[in-house]
Amino acid sequence: MSWSLLESFAYTHEAHLAGHKLEASGIPARVSTLRSGLAGVVPVKDAVSEVWVHPEDLDHARRVLHLELLDGGQDPRHDPEVCPHCDAAWEPGFDACWSCSRQP
Ligand SMILES: [Zn+2]
Repeated sequence: MSWSLLESFAYTHEAHLAGHKLEASGIPARVSTLRSGLAGVVPVKDAVSEVWVHPEDLDHARRVLHLELLDGGQDPRHDPEVCPHCDAAWEPGFDACWSCSRQP
């Protein structure tokens, strides 16, 4: 049984959410979390979570997640995870980036 990397996520809960959406769509998915350092030493935001699916499910899985992302994009109150301009971690509830002062 082989697996292909579908997507990497900066946050573990995002990867698990994607995995649940895929499984709800009938696509077997695996979520793995890698850490750039020793577990418990690095901040959680430095962990990288990856979602894996079977190679034959890649296209379907991308469509499922893309549709979900489009649905989420219609919510104007949705805060980005990181600033799209400078990649600083986004502070929820703010209209502009704390780092570069630009809006997403
Ligand atoms: Zn910024």
